[in-house]
Amino acid sequence: MIPSEFEIIRRYFAESGLQFPRAGVTLGIGDDGALLNVPADKLLVMSMDVLVEGIHFPPQADPALVAQRALAVNLSDLAAMAAEPFCFTLGLTLPAANNAWLAGFSSGLLQLARAFNCPLVGGDISRGLLNIAIQVQGLVAPDRVMRRSGAKVGDQIYVSGSLGDGAIALASLGLATQFGDSMQLQPGAATPQHLLYLHAAFYQPEPRIALAQALAPYVSSGIDISDGLAGDLGHILRANGVGGLLQLSALPFSDAARACMSVSNCQRAALYGGDDYELCVTVALAQCAAAEAAAAATGIAFTRIGAIVAGTALHGVDADGSTRAIEPAAFRHF
Ligand code: ADP
Ligand code: MG
Repeated sequence: MIPSEFEIIRRYFAESGLQFPRAGVTLGIGDDGALLNVPADKLLVMSMDVLVEGIHFPPQADPALVAQRALAVNLSDLAAMAAEPFCFTLGLTLPAANNAWLAGFSSGLLQLARAFNCPLVGGDISRGLLNIAIQVQGLVAPDRVMRRSGAKVGDQIYVSGSLGDGAIALASLGLATQFGDSMQLQPGAATPQHLLYLHAAFYQPEPRIALAQALAPYVSSGIDISDGLAGDLGHILRANGVGGLLQLSALPFSDAARACMSVSNCQRAALYGGDDYELCVTVALAQCAAAEAAAAATGIAFTRIGAIVAGTALHGVDADGSTRAIEPAAFRHF
């Protein structure tokens, strides 16, 4: 039977386990609004990301994976502020009330919501093209916030994890990238393990919440990389009126990326591809050892890739020592 919207809210959101108890959530789904109790010593962080079928994920994609990607990219923004996840709301438009789709979507959401102690507290639902809008709330102590501003000349630039996997994963899924035909997996190079890794990198990026909280005391600025390193680091450079110098041979790539792509394609994917959801932070020289130790304790790769320099431009040093300008062009929707 086709469920009504009240039935959908009850079955797949209110009673699905998604609104598990969490400190500070006084009232979740069911009234006209949620009631939240923000601790007096914390700031409330809000961030929202909209995912559109055909733009942010392929048509007919697995609903559990779509749900995880939708929540993960939002949690990545909380990581970029060094915030702890608090709760989230969900605005959903979908073409039809499809029980199988909703069950998959709800169960995918539940897994990630539980893993990050971030219950669903409300939302809205309507018929329409498939769109998923999530707004996350986070908590952070005022003196532990990570912002785009704060980078100074001489600070070192670091990134978490590996770069370029998002764009390379798009190519591995057979989907168009903004690079066109030039970003294709080398035939026969990808093992089944590489393909699994890339698939997970696209649908299940790991929000770097714990790493960001560990790093927050030591960084001067930070951002999450959703639109390519050049564009997102460019935001930090512009926010601070500084330039950047990247050691391109230091950019961290996954085994799958290295196996499937030329070095120059790995670099292009890292600089201009999207969907990596890694952190990019700047650290004053005196804090580098402490930041590296804090990152090491989380077990997540943390790689020094360059430095903040005078000026306003971003340059890259190639393996042969030559320097070239890197345009801060990120992916653009319009
Ligand atoms: P109203 O008509 O007052 O906007 P709704 O019928 O839209 O109320 O929503 C009823 C309750 O269900 C509210 O608490 C709302 O937050 C919640 N809700 C609606 N849609 C969703 C959703 N997609 N996910 C979670 N909660 C939802
Ligand atoms: Mg409503």
